[in-house]
Amino acid sequence: MRALLLCVGLLCMGIASAAAPIDLYIVCNSDGSNPVMSGDDFSALLPTVNAYFAQVGMSFYLRSQQTIASNEWRTIVYGSEAADELRRKIPATGGVKMFAVGNVVGGAQAFCGDHGIIFSRQCSANTIAHELGHACGLDDIYIQKTFTNAANVEVTVSVEGPASSGRMPLDWGRYENGVLQSTLIEKLLMYGGVSGTECDLTAGDVYGVGMSVATNEVTGVVSYPYELKMVPVGFWLRGNRSPQSQ
Ligand SMILES: [Zn+2]
Repeated sequence: MRALLLCVGLLCMGIASAAAPIDLYIVCNSDGSNPVMSGDDFSALLPTVNAYFAQVGMSFYLRSQQTIASNEWRTIVYGSEAADELRRKIPATGGVKMFAVGNVVGGAQAFCGDHGIIFSRQCSANTIAHELGHACGLDDIYIQKTFTNAANVEVTVSVEGPASSGRMPLDWGRYENGVLQSTLIEKLLMYGGVSGTECDLTAGDVYGVGMSVATNEVTGVVSYPYELKMVPVGFWLRGNRSPQSQ
């Protein structure tokens, strides 16, 4: 019985340590009025986020919230210098820093970097969960991508054919027989396209279109081509259970 109690105790400790803190920064007007959302608005998204992360025995909780008074930051340009400035303004907290802004223009409505996640107030729980997947170290996976390669040629790479054990070795058997790999990818939380309502987290990596990094040997210019590969989306392989923004 004592051994059993010890096991239960360790299990509880394990579950407790898998809850990761979020520190939320809500942009409001420079005079302190009109925050883009409330802490309650954000908290209302967390049960859905945590339902997805329950697949891997993890959850997030809102540890702190405060406002950032700045008219300038109500609208953020995707991937801009201003976005980095906003994130760097807050020192590392030991948790995930999340910045709620009024609107993100020029790209997706949310994005994640080393210094935290910026998201517009319109974001769904699915989008928030996807960005938290990035914060845990997972990549985007796509069905198809068109890009300009190093030789300045437009290239399209896309996933064809059915799923197979070799295309998802740690998760084989989870999906119905004969399902197309593209259909399966659309079910994943880390799918980088517009997804439906399913947000599966896999244990292992999954075959699909993912981003790579290439450096031109002559010019030294770094580019980010896409390629067919085992995309690093497997939470049990790669997921950081204690994600911390810098
Ligand atoms: Zn993404």
